[in-house]
Amino acid sequence: AKESGRNNYQFFTTELNVRAQHRYALEKNLRRALTEQEFLVFYQPKVCLKTSAIVGAEALIRWQMPDVGIIPPDEFIPISEEIGLILPIGRWVLEQACLRAKYWRDEFFPDFVISVNISPKQFQDPGLFNFIQQVLNETKLPGQGLQLEITEGLLMGELDLLLPVFTSIKKLGVSISLDDFGTGFSSLSYLQRFPIDNLKIDRSFIRDIPEKQDSVVLTRAIIAMASALGLSVTAEGVEKTEQLDFLTDSGCQEMQGFLFSKPLSASDFENLLISHTPK
Ligand code: C2E
Ligand code: CA
Ligand code: CA
Ligand code: CA
Repeated sequence: AKESGRNNYQFFTTELNVRAQHRYALEKNLRRALTEQEFLVFYQPKVCLKTSAIVGAEALIRWQMPDVGIIPPDEFIPISEEIGLILPIGRWVLEQACLRAKYWRDEFFPDFVISVNISPKQFQDPGLFNFIQQVLNETKLPGQGLQLEITEGLLMGELDLLLPVFTSIKKLGVSISLDDFGTGFSSLSYLQRFPIDNLKIDRSFIRDIPEKQDSVVLTRAIIAMASALGLSVTAEGVEKTEQLDFLTDSGCQEMQGFLFSKPLSASDFENLLISHTPK
């Protein structure tokens, strides 16, 4: 028994070592990615359900790792949050996205809105507001052209600390969307306490429309509630025409999903914008 216990212990430490090494390599690569500019921003169109026009896009980061290929954000954003690298990465994404949005507003669609994901860690950064203000000034993007996507978890933080940040960001004209709505521990009272503009219904609800009656009913209820509170609604993960039709009939304002387009590189997105913008 003593013998096998020792073997288990050895096995355990070996596995821990492998994991620690893997993580160390990932951290090192991530830091290099930032200095060597291996990150890219992709853009997924947001479409107005009434007019079918592209009214904006969500900026989604990608990591183009040499000799490896494109790594999706789920594989490096969580660790970047843990090691504090999300701050410089998040700043870089915001700058890139605002720069493009300014150009697309000038060239194609004056009301274009760019949505940028902001992790809770970035909200804990006391420099967040100043940085947003600085990026808007430098890129000459009006605040109305920027939307921040936040998640419900953030709103569980301290109201006294969060509310002033929200309020000052909103004074810039920037709007706020509550991402992945319906998946967190959301208390609906958050919607009254925070100056939120938009609800983004999570893909898990949209996915099961029209097959699952629960998802149909809940999505309808979310849209009705949002409209009563004066919030707009965006549906994410729309993949089927049935879903599109249902959302249009239910009074949802915007959609995003593979049915219309996957996230695209800046130049592919621009081509789509050109071909889709009525002359
Ligand atoms: P999210 O904010 O919920 O972004 C939506 C995700 O759904 C994207 O995955 C998008 O490609 C995917 N998606 C869009 N339409 C469809 C569809 O019709 N079907 C399916 N199956 N998927 C669809 P992506 O780009 O891999 O991003 C994953 C997550 O990584 C994001 O989830 C967000 O939480 C995070 N993320 C991405 N970019 C950034 C960033 O710049 N900063 C931060 N903090 N997080 C980011
Ligand atoms: Ca998002
Ligand atoms: Ca989402
Ligand atoms: Ca998500």
